[in-house]
Amino acid sequence: MDRASRQVVAVTSHVRAGDGALAVRLRREIRGEVLFDAASRGRYSTDASIYQIEPVGVVVPQTEEDARIAIQIAADESVPILARGGGTSQCGQTVGAALVIDNSKYLNRLLAFDAQARTAVVQPGMVLDQLNAYLKPHGLWFPVDVSTSAQATLGGMAGNNSCGSRSIRYGNMVHNVRGIDALLADGSEFHFSASDQLAAASPAYRELVAKVHAVVRREAAEIEARWPRVLRRVQGYNIDMVQPGAEGAPLAHNLAHLLVGSEGTLAYTRRIHLDLAPLPTHKTLGVCHFPTFHQAMQAPQHIVKLAPTAVELVDRTMIELARGNAAFKPIVNRFLKGDPDAILLVEFAGDDRDKQIAKLRQLVELMADLGFPGGVVEIPDSGLQKQVWEVRKAGLNIMMSMKGEGKPVSFIEDCAVPLEHLAEYTDKLTRVFAKHGTRGTWYAHASVGTLHVRPVLNMKEGGAKQMRAIAEEACELVRSYKGAAYSGEHGDGLVRTEWIEPIIGSRLTRALEEIKDLFDPRGLMNPGKIVRGTRQDDRSLFRFKPAYAAQQLDTALDWSEWSAPGEAAGGGSAKGFIAAVEMCNNNGHCRKFDAGTMCPSYRATGNERDLTRGRANTLRLALSGQLGPAAFTSEAMREAMDLCVSCKGCKRECPTGVDMAKMKIEFLYHYGKRHGRSLKDRLVAWLPRYAPWAARLPALANLRDAIPGLAGLGESLLGLSAKRSLPRWRSDAFLSRSCAAAGETQTGQREVALLVDTFNNYFEPDNARAALAVLEAAGYRVHLARAADDPSGNARPLCCGRTFLASGLVDEARAEARRTVAALAPYVARGVPVIGLEPSCLYTLRDEFKSMLPGAETDALAAHALLFEEFLAAEHKAGRLKLELQALPQKKALLHGHCHQKAFGAMSAVEQVLRLVPELQVETVESSCCGMAGAFGYEAQHYEVSMKMAEASLLPALRSAGADTLLVADGTSCRHQIHDGLKGDADPGVAARGAVHVAQVLARALRAPSGR
Ligand SMILES: Cc1cc2nc3c(=O)[nH]c(=O)nc-3n(C[C@H](O)[C@H](O)[C@H](O)COP(=O)(O)OP(=O)(O)OC[C@H]3O[C@@H](n4cnc5c(N)ncnc54)[C@H](O)[C@@H]3O)c2cc1C
Ligand code: SF4
Ligand code: SF4
Repeated sequence: MDRASRQVVAVTSHVRAGDGALAVRLRREIRGEVLFDAASRGRYSTDASIYQIEPVGVVVPQTEEDARIAIQIAADESVPILARGGGTSQCGQTVGAALVIDNSKYLNRLLAFDAQARTAVVQPGMVLDQLNAYLKPHGLWFPVDVSTSAQATLGGMAGNNSCGSRSIRYGNMVHNVRGIDALLADGSEFHFSASDQLAAASPAYRELVAKVHAVVRREAAEIEARWPRVLRRVQGYNIDMVQPGAEGAPLAHNLAHLLVGSEGTLAYTRRIHLDLAPLPTHKTLGVCHFPTFHQAMQAPQHIVKLAPTAVELVDRTMIELARGNAAFKPIVNRFLKGDPDAILLVEFAGDDRDKQIAKLRQLVELMADLGFPGGVVEIPDSGLQKQVWEVRKAGLNIMMSMKGEGKPVSFIEDCAVPLEHLAEYTDKLTRVFAKHGTRGTWYAHASVGTLHVRPVLNMKEGGAKQMRAIAEEACELVRSYKGAAYSGEHGDGLVRTEWIEPIIGSRLTRALEEIKDLFDPRGLMNPGKIVRGTRQDDRSLFRFKPAYAAQQLDTALDWSEWSAPGEAAGGGSAKGFIAAVEMCNNNGHCRKFDAGTMCPSYRATGNERDLTRGRANTLRLALSGQLGPAAFTSEAMREAMDLCVSCKGCKRECPTGVDMAKMKIEFLYHYGKRHGRSLKDRLVAWLPRYAPWAARLPALANLRDAIPGLAGLGESLLGLSAKRSLPRWRSDAFLSRSCAAAGETQTGQREVALLVDTFNNYFEPDNARAALAVLEAAGYRVHLARAADDPSGNARPLCCGRTFLASGLVDEARAEARRTVAALAPYVARGVPVIGLEPSCLYTLRDEFKSMLPGAETDALAAHALLFEEFLAAEHKAGRLKLELQALPQKKALLHGHCHQKAFGAMSAVEQVLRLVPELQVETVESSCCGMAGAFGYEAQHYEVSMKMAEASLLPALRSAGADTLLVADGTSCRHQIHDGLKGDADPGVAARGAVHVAQVLARALRAPSGR
C-alpha cells in the first residue's frame, strides 16, 4: 500500500471512531435522510468503476439548507465530503471514505428558465433527460448529450466535465456552463461566474480569483507548452480556460469553468447556471462503410471538414453483435451493405432540410474521393436514424453483458488524440493489447478523436498487472502525440489521477495542488482525486480486493448459465449465482425514468436501496461477507428486496442482464428457510391448491368483502390491505366439470392447447371463454390443457407455480412445473402450440421452469409456449389467421402492458392483434409497473407505494382517456389495480371504467359470436 492509499485508510479509521457523533448531529440538525448502517454505506461504496471504498455515512438532503448544514457538520468533525449524483462515473471519482451527499432524490429541480435568453438554473441532482423533456416544447435543449442522459445529473456532469456524442458542434460541459453557485468546505458561499461580474462580487471571492490568477499567470508558458490541445481534454483542473491577460487585465474568463471537471474536489455545487441551445429541426445521417478498420480511422480528419454534428465509430465486433441479435438484425440489414470492417455514422443537423441533404451528398462525394465510391448509405428519414442510433447503443450493452470472470474494463477508454494520428494510435494500442494477452472493441466519438476501448481483464486475478502495463504504454503513446489528452471524457478519479503528471509534467501538477489548496486547504473535498491520488492498481481500493471471496450457496434454482466456461458442471450453479450478481457493474442504467419498466420501485421511492443496482450491490456485499455473518438472510437484505415487484424490467433493460426477479426468488427461498413464512404468504402461495375447494363455496370465500369489518380484521391478522377488494371467486369456473371432459372442444384444421391459469379459471372465467370463442371462430382445434393423470376434468387444474415462487417456495413450484411439463409433453411432442392468457403465468413456462427443471422437455415446452396474442400475431403474419371481425362501438383502445409482456417483447403482438379489429385505433400507455404485481399491492405495508407506482403514469393516462375508449390490460393484477385506482374518482364516468383482456376485445368483435 502506498502513502496515498494509507492516507485514505487512515481517514476511514479516524472517522470510524467518531462517526457516532457525526450521525447523531446530522440526525438532529437536518430534515433529510441520514444513512449510516452497513448496508447503506455498502450501497454507496461503488460507482461504475472498478473501485470500492466504504463511505463514512450518507446524507440525502431534502433542501439546499440541509446540504449546507451537512457540509458544515462534516467540516466541524473533520470528515471528508463527497457530493454524488447518479454515481455513474467510471473512474472512481464518486467513491471515497467521506460523508456522501446524494443530491439525486430531492435536490433535482429546475429553478429558473428564460426561453428568450436561452438560459436555465438547476439544482445539482436534476437529471439531463428530465431537463431536456421540459425544454423540448420550447424548441430548446441542453446539448451535452452524454450516453447516460437518463441518469446523469447536471451536478455530476459538471463535476466530470461530461461530453456528448455531438461535442464537435456543442462542446463539452465546460462550454455550456455560465455560472455555478458553490459552497466551500469552510462554509463560504460564492457565485462563480464570468469575469464581467467580478466588480460586483464579494471581497472574499475577488481574493480567491486573484490567487487563482496568480497561479495560472505564473504558469502561462508551461500551460502553453504542456497542456493538451484537443477539445476533449478533461484532465486536471481547467487552468487553461481561466487565464487572465498577461498584463493583469482579465480576459473574458469564467471561474465556474475551474469548478467544471473538478470532480467535487474544490467545492460543492449548489446550483448550476446553464446555456441552452435551439433544437435542430432537421437531421440527416450517412453510414460510411470501410473495408478495413485502419481506413475508417483515417477518414474522420477529412469528414469533420463538412461540419457534422457527430461522427461515431462502430467496429466489426459491434456490427456482428448487432447482426446476431434478432431484434436488430432487420434494422442492420437496412443500413449495412456487404461486410465492412467498420462503419462511421455521420450526422448533420440544422434548421434547413435542403442544407442537410446537400451535406449528405457532399459526404457521398468525399467518400468517393477517399477511394470508397458508393460507400455511403444515406438516411434522410428520422425514423430509421433513431433506429440506427439505438443499434449503436445496444452494441455496447451486449458487449458489457460478457459472462465469465473476464470483463471489459474501463481505464484507458477515452484517450483523445488529434485526428491525424487516430489510425496510427488505434493500430498501436491494439498491438499493446495483444502483447498483454487481451483484446478490445473500439467505438464512439471519432469526430473528436475520443474512441472508447475496454480491454477484457479479470480483475480478481492478474488483471491489475495487465492494467498497469497497458496503461503505461498507452500513456507513452498519448504523450508522443502533441496536444493529446489521456483523459478525454470520463475524468480522472482514482484510475487516472496518477497519470496527470506524466502528461502535463510535475510543475503543472504542483500548480494543480496549489489550486486545490486555495479552495480546500484542509483537503476535505473528495480527497485523492485529481491531486495527491493513489495508484490506479492499488487492489486494496478495488471492488474485488485480494481477499474477496463469495459464499457458495446451495442454490434452489439453476444458475449455471452464468458460471464461467468449464464450471457449468459441478458447483456451476452456486458459482453462477454470485457471478450473476456480480454482473452489475454499477453503470446506473436502472435509475432511468424514461420509457420502459426498470425499475418501478426506484421510480416510486428514489432510494438507492430500492434500485436494481442497490439490490445487486447488497447481494454481492452480503454474499462476500462484507455485511457481517449470515447477511444474505438478514433483515437488511430483506429490506433491500422488499419493494422489488419482480417485474423483470431489469432482465430485459439492464445492459448486463441482471435478473433481479429471479434473484429475489433465490433470496426468498433461503430467507424463508431461516425465518419461516407468514400466514399471508402461505395463504397466497397455496391458492392454486385450495382453489378448487374455495370455488365450490364462492359465497363463503367472498365473505371478507361482503361483511363490514372483516377487511379490517384481515388487515390486522394477515396484513392484506383493507383498502383493497380481493379477487372474487366465481361459481362458474372455466375448467369445471361441465367443460368438455376430454379437453377437446371441436375439430379444426390446426391444433392448439389452451392453458387456463388459476386466476382466469376461478376469478375471470369470461376471459378464458372469450379466448376459446376466438380460437374456435378462427378454426382451430382447441385442446383444454389438463393434468396428465386426469382426463376426466375433475382434477386440480394445471399451475405454473408462480404463487409459490413469489414466496420463495421453490420446491412446491417445482412440483407444479413437473406436473405441467408432463401434462403438456404430448402436445409439445406433436408441435402443438401451448397458449396462455395471463402473462406472468405463461412466461413462467418460458423462464423460471428452465431454472427449476432444466432439461430438454422443459426447453421444448418453452419453445411452444405462447401468449394468446403472440400466437394470433404469428398466425396472422404467416397468413394463416382466418378471423372475421367487425368494428366495435368504441373506436379507440388504450393498452397497458403487463411488465412480463414488456420483458418478453410481446407488446407489439398485442398491439397488432388489437389492430385486427376494424377501425380500432390502438395506443399504448407509456407506463412502468402498475404497482399491483401479484400479491404485492394487496399487502398493507405496500399499499402506498403500490398506488404511487400506478399514479406515476398509468392512472393519469387512463383518467384522461375519452369515455368511448376501451381500456385493455392482459394482466389480472393490472386490471385489479386499474379498477381500484379509478373506482374512487370524482367523475362517475372514470370511476366506472374497467380494463379488459385482449381476448374479450376480439370476442366482442367476432362477426358471428360463439361462446361457451
Ligand atoms: C455506460 C456509461 C456511459 C457513459 N457515457 C458517457 C458519455 O457519453 N459522456 C460522458 O461524459 N460521460 C459518460 N459516462 C460517465 C458518466 O455517466 C458521466 O460523467 C455523468 O455525467 C456523471 O453523472 P452522475 O450524476 O452519475 O455523476 P456522479 O458520478 O454522481 O458524480 C460525478 C462527479 O461529480 C461530482 N459531483 C456530483 N455532484 C456534485 C455537486 N453537487 N457538487 C460537486 N461535485 C459534484 C462527484 O463527486 C463526482 O466526482 C458514462 C458512464 C457509463 C457507465
Ligand atoms: S443493475 Fe444493471 S442497469 Fe442497474 S447498475 Fe447494475 S448493471 Fe447497470
Ligand atoms: S424486477 Fe423490477 S422491481 Fe425488481 S429490481 Fe428488477 S426492475 Fe426493479
